Amino acid sequence: MTAAKIIDGQAIAARNREDIAREVAEMFNRDGVVPGLAVILLGDDPASHVYVRSKRKFAKDVGMKSVVHLLPAETSEAELLRLIDQLNNDPEIHGILVQLPLPGHIDKNAVINAIDPEKDVDGFHVENVGRLATGQDGMTPCTPLGCMILLRTCLDDLAGRKALVIGHSNIVGKPMARLLLGAFCTVTIAHVKTKNLDDECRAADILITAAGQPNLVKGDWVKPGAVVIDVGITRINLPDGKIGITGDVDFDAVKQVAGHITPVPGGVGPMTIACLLANTLKAAKGLIGHAAASTLDVEVDHPTV
Ligand code: NAD
Repeated sequence: MTAAKIIDGQAIAARNREDIAREVAEMFNRDGVVPGLAVILLGDDPASHVYVRSKRKFAKDVGMKSVVHLLPAETSEAELLRLIDQLNNDPEIHGILVQLPLPGHIDKNAVINAIDPEKDVDGFHVENVGRLATGQDGMTPCTPLGCMILLRTCLDDLAGRKALVIGHSNIVGKPMARLLLGAFCTVTIAHVKTKNLDDECRAADILITAAGQPNLVKGDWVKPGAVVIDVGITRINLPDGKIGITGDVDFDAVKQVAGHITPVPGGVGPMTIACLLANTLKAAKGLIGHAAASTLDVEVDHPTV
């Protein structure tokens, strides 16, 4: 059996960012508008800081305005809601993202639902969740959207294929399943209580795993020729003492069986950021007519909130 084709998320995301950069430049020339993305980060979680740095870098690279609000972990919910309200009313900001997870004293749903749905570039607001669930246009969560783009690079037609999504979270598993259903896949969602996960995997033409469990999916669990998309990210210590990441799939074994497979890193991760930029551009298009941005890169420290 020949080894699976590696789906190069890095390269596909780079091409998407080029297209976005072109559209951003056209929008500025035509409308005088620069799409603006505001990211709010509470606390010192190292992984969250890495993600936010990346989002900021790529937003700037495609010519968007990037504003990062760094708040202490002890920031009150009322303070955070005030900042969101200010950003909802800021004509230079088209996309707002609150980096998750939030500290335990904050009601995550209250925060997400305080974001103007038109600026909700993560697609987590209950209005956007409802839009996706009912097949209406809205903001689609970035990671599942990125997975769909990757899938379409290796499959001409998704209709009628059996898809298994491992993970039923609001940010990956459930919206992923809804997008696959929208493409007429026959969809199964597995989670921590699912019985005989190995058999569920063996039946899948498309296997998307978002469990955060290294080596969960074994080589003999995968249907020959299946497309395997590994969303999982677990931080691991590398032999050289550095921190690396690994996915949910036993990559070396699964790539001997699958038809296509994403690596970790370099698969879904870059697509998530590319889709965040695409959603910010989409939000800016919807809110055109507002003022152009004055300063393109801003970091706002709120040390005494
Ligand atoms: P979560 O913890 O909210 O959900 C995990 C899901 O996996 C749950 O539905 C749980 O029931 C299921 N699960 C856990 N262990 C399982 C097992 N042994 N068998 C079957 N199901 C199991 O996590 P999340 O926020 O949905 O993220 C999932 C993973 O994806 C994490 O590793 C996260 O870091 C990663 N992630 C990656 C990206 C990216 O851009 N690549 C984006 C978001 C999340």
